[in-house]
Amino acid sequence: MKLFEHEAKDIFRAFKMPTPPGGVAKTPEEAKERAKEVGKPVVVKAQVLAGKRGKAGGVKFADTPEQAAKIAKEILALRINDLPVEAVLVEEKLDIAQEIYVGITIDRNERKYVVIGSAAGGMSIEELAEESPEKIIKVHVDPLLGFHAYQARQMAIDMGFNGKQIHQLSRFFLRLWQIVQTHDVELTEINPLILTKDGRFLAADARLNIDDNALYRHKKIIEGIQREPVEQNERERLATDNDMAYVELDGNIACICNGAGLTMATLDVVSLYGGKASTFLDLGGGADAERVEKGIEVAMMYPKVKAILVNIMAGITRCDDVANGVLSAREDGDITVPLVIRMVGTNEEEGQEILMKAGIPFLKTMEEAASKVVELVKELA
Ligand code: GDP
Ligand code: MN
Repeated sequence: MKLFEHEAKDIFRAFKMPTPPGGVAKTPEEAKERAKEVGKPVVVKAQVLAGKRGKAGGVKFADTPEQAAKIAKEILALRINDLPVEAVLVEEKLDIAQEIYVGITIDRNERKYVVIGSAAGGMSIEELAEESPEKIIKVHVDPLLGFHAYQARQMAIDMGFNGKQIHQLSRFFLRLWQIVQTHDVELTEINPLILTKDGRFLAADARLNIDDNALYRHKKIIEGIQREPVEQNERERLATDNDMAYVELDGNIACICNGAGLTMATLDVVSLYGGKASTFLDLGGGADAERVEKGIEVAMMYPKVKAILVNIMAGITRCDDVANGVLSAREDGDITVPLVIRMVGTNEEEGQEILMKAGIPFLKTMEEAASKVVELVKELA
């Protein structure tokens, strides 16, 4: 789960990392109040779960509370990365001497956490890694030994800091490491960590992603966090309402299967034969005629679909049920594109017979079915 900047900063403060004074506002009036409380020029920042808000016009400055209200109004009307801006963070505008990057994430190849620092913060670490990789300092953390103060200090030195600043900066690494360990963090990042002209280090931005599988261990944090339900289109909503896993893709072949593994494999085989899937639709376990019919209805609502591939491994699910589901979808007029079926398992012969009588092509293997559906789509073009 991704936390909003202001939520991440609450955690940062609890771990004694300085952040600029300020607070959240949901309306221009509240933004004006926050700016008054700060009593200095402020930065107004869109609270959306997306990076690069600066470039998208979601980070702006205001000298007066009135101006802060006006800017907040503009930012609250934005959509960034297709997400609505429902709140802004109003904070003291810092006088920047230097923008620094610090972060910790998982290096999956090394199977370790990696602590990352750069004296060239501000831009995204991905861009920095391409342009000047030598400016990025990395330390992999041995899972048994952990990450220690001497390593944090060495990083600050390698980043070009000296004197008292080594201590000031290394504390951010150590505290991020504490948060990582206590909160099951997948990724945390301060970009920029701002060194002000008067020599203070403050976390001006904050990213914190918690491992979804560990959320049950962090009930307190979750309780304090109110998530709006994810915005879904009508097809996604219908699929969710029917407990189906549904993902839209760029291609034109709707893959309707049972089980996530089989659905993934089906997408792969379609791709192997030169086709492109439009839809990942996992009907789930025990799919009956009604579920199959519903699945086809959902898949057909997506305008990109040019053909359907139904691929079923029947266990609890019965092939005759699947066949009947396809038939009723066809009777309802839901199927306006070519459809190919492959199914194996329980009541295979019965299912096959139903399809044959109805004149619907039935294929034995996944490979045959995938190549057939790809061929049908090519003929359409
Ligand atoms: P992001 O674009 O989503 O990563 O948003 P950031 O919070 O990182 O803000 C983008 C940029 O705005 C930063 O790199 C800074 O250059 C600038 N910025 C953010 N906060 C402040 C601030 O308090 N004072 C000043 N002067 N600049 C800021
Ligand atoms: Mn940033």
